[in-house]
Amino acid sequence: MTSRALLLGGTAEARDLAAVLAPRRDVEVISSLAGRVSDPALPAGTVRIGGFGGAEGLYRWLTGERIDVVIDATHPFATGISASAASACGRSGIPLLRLCRPPWLPGPGDDWIQVPAVADVPAALGEAGRVFLTIGRQGLPVFAGCDRHWFLVRTVDPPVDAVPPRMQLVLDRGPFTVEGETALLRTNRIDLVVTKNSGGPMTAAKLAACRQLGVPVLMIARPPTATSAVAEVSTVAEAASRLDRVITMRGTDGG
Ligand code: NAP
Repeated sequence: MTSRALLLGGTAEARDLAAVLAPRRDVEVISSLAGRVSDPALPAGTVRIGGFGGAEGLYRWLTGERIDVVIDATHPFATGISASAASACGRSGIPLLRLCRPPWLPGPGDDWIQVPAVADVPAALGEAGRVFLTIGRQGLPVFAGCDRHWFLVRTVDPPVDAVPPRMQLVLDRGPFTVEGETALLRTNRIDLVVTKNSGGPMTAAKLAACRQLGVPVLMIARPPTATSAVAEVSTVAEAASRLDRVITMRGTDGG
């Protein structure tokens, strides 16, 4: 019996998990992307792109497609889709697994100032003159009134909404290297870096570069996520193994 899994993605871990599961016969995986970036890195196997229409839309999609299990491997800051998954799975009884990379933690030599949310960053910029803003494009309107600071802004696609009045845009996507990040910080004489606590290796090089150069980091804490997940794991291997258990239980239940 083949189980049908929805893999909510948009992250490197989701792509890695899709690659692990794609050759398997006992599970058919449909990866889902929001469709936010113009040229997304596509996972292996079947892919659908675009929102579901909130928790209600996702519930209808899951039941209509006879999905047996949902794996939420979205970014730790993607709270909308995770809330929809928790709600739709709770309502339908479809098991939900959460794959979420661990947050970054400060180590010796790090100079981090933790802030609760993007909205709190402008008040925490202090006297920094040249700020590297690497928070994605969605949070940029928060900085539209910040005219005392100059920003180097890095995004994957060009911003569509309001941006800081004094800024230079760099379009790029990870993975980044420590050498590259160090050169970027030096060339632009950056004296403060602002980042979300995304975790994972793809974009961690900027933190090592800050450590080396003695540049402080404004670290935006992760938002809380509502979850009804039967298991929350942090690695692709753990997710595959928990998926096996769910599939086995389903076979035992005769579902
Ligand atoms: P979000 O606030 O949770 O999502 C907003 C809406 O986009 C959701 O309500 C849903 O629309 C749709 N959506 C999000 N992820 C989806 C998915 N995987 N498949 C189908 N629809 C999805 O998320 P976000 O912060 O805008 O992030 C969008 C995507 O980019 C996520 O998939 C995430 O994994 C990825 N990403 C986010 C960040 C970040 O910093 N937030 C960084 C890297 C990658 P409906 O309500 O219509 O279903």
